[in-house]
Amino acid sequence: MLTTPDPIELPAPRRIGMVSLGCPKALVDSERILTRLRADGYAMSADYAGADVVLVNTCGFLDSAKEESLAAIGEAIAENGRVIVTGCMGSEAELIRAKFPAVLAVTGAHQYDAVVEAVHEAAPPGLGPYLDLVPQADPGDITLTPRHYSYLKISEGCNHSCAFCIIPQLRGKLASRRIDAVLREAEKLVAAGTRELLVISQDTSAYGVDLRHEERAWHGHPVRTHMTDLARELGQLRTPAGVPPWVRLHYVYPYPHVDAVIPLMAEGLLTPYLDIPFQHASPNVLRAMKRPANEAKVLERLAAWRAICPDIAIRSSFVVGFPGETEADFAYLLEWLEEAQLDRVGAFRFEPVAGAAANSLPDPVPEAVKEERYARLMELTEKISAAKLEAKIGRTLPVIIDEVGEPDEDGDIGATGRSEADAPEIDGAVYLRNVPAGLKAGDVVAVTVEDADAHDLFGVVATER
Ligand code: SF4
Repeated sequence: MLTTPDPIELPAPRRIGMVSLGCPKALVDSERILTRLRADGYAMSADYAGADVVLVNTCGFLDSAKEESLAAIGEAIAENGRVIVTGCMGSEAELIRAKFPAVLAVTGAHQYDAVVEAVHEAAPPGLGPYLDLVPQADPGDITLTPRHYSYLKISEGCNHSCAFCIIPQLRGKLASRRIDAVLREAEKLVAAGTRELLVISQDTSAYGVDLRHEERAWHGHPVRTHMTDLARELGQLRTPAGVPPWVRLHYVYPYPHVDAVIPLMAEGLLTPYLDIPFQHASPNVLRAMKRPANEAKVLERLAAWRAICPDIAIRSSFVVGFPGETEADFAYLLEWLEEAQLDRVGAFRFEPVAGAAANSLPDPVPEAVKEERYARLMELTEKISAAKLEAKIGRTLPVIIDEVGEPDEDGDIGATGRSEADAPEIDGAVYLRNVPAGLKAGDVVAVTVEDADAHDLFGVVATER
């Protein structure tokens, strides 16, 4: 008589904990590593206790970020004990090992193979023949960001040598990804539910320079490895519902060819938003910083862009207290900001980073002066931001929903979203009252703006787009 064999017990998957520090680029690295590990049969653990091994993806951009990374490693060792370190601080393996001899392995930024191998060694997957055929996960299968927005990394490294920055030492020269591979990843992300793509790199406008803007075939036509071709093609993508995703460009330097993407924003193919890290305006300071594209007549360019696309939002960041910055340089920056009327501004007080050329520059700015300049800059940029947001009261704007709350005692549901002028995590928010039931993260709705403060908007859903 035939008997049914007992079902085979598959081993429980090993679990990985992940602590991801640093910039959006590091976040993309974490996502890639987790995608690879899941393809190898690992499961993710939301806490230290449930993890067989904990990965700490570190950031080493500023000394304060290094401290944060070391603190995170220390916490993971104390809470779990089995820790692998990866990311930018991997270039300082000796320091990490000296401080935390119990660390199992240290690997550098983008060394996906090395980190995956270290995990295999620390917690062998032990899959057996049944799970080894798990297909490779698609890009975006594991994402640490909410499903409705995804970062799209187009290149690594940087060909510049800004005096305050050690990224080129940590990450090497510009290495662009093939444009067809980038577009394929974007297409898959959008097919899987991404409603907003955030294009990131160290220098987005230099995309493809290292590949001499080589052409690749994409859906039957040639496309160059170039920012404008990339932007145009991303603008052609459609979600499963047939609507274009929001496409936001970050870390763009004002090279002349940036002008070519502004009409795409006016046509609705690209989100009318540019993140341009100007860092300063005074020619003396920019020269000392060795910033790229600083000769461009930026104020005239901004005016021309706004003439083509009046709703374009410009975000930027600035460093105050760079060595040698005089009161006259700083006053120049404030005047420039008054004229530039940027929509979103982040500011940093200059901080020397071990290994950066700026550390040996003469005339350091005293801490108290840095603080005072920082406060003056923030006061001005908040005033500009408040006026710009106030001008939006009464308008109806598209808003992407990030989070929907629970009904309050009256049954009203609130939600948080962002306008096209707000990138996630770095810009403001739109707070909605009394949203319709069924609204969910990733929906794009028309919102009538009722109020504003210095950073955020407040409104109510008009009609669904
Ligand atoms: S452009 Fe300058 S600040 Fe940006 S990564 Fe390159 S060297 Fe660093």
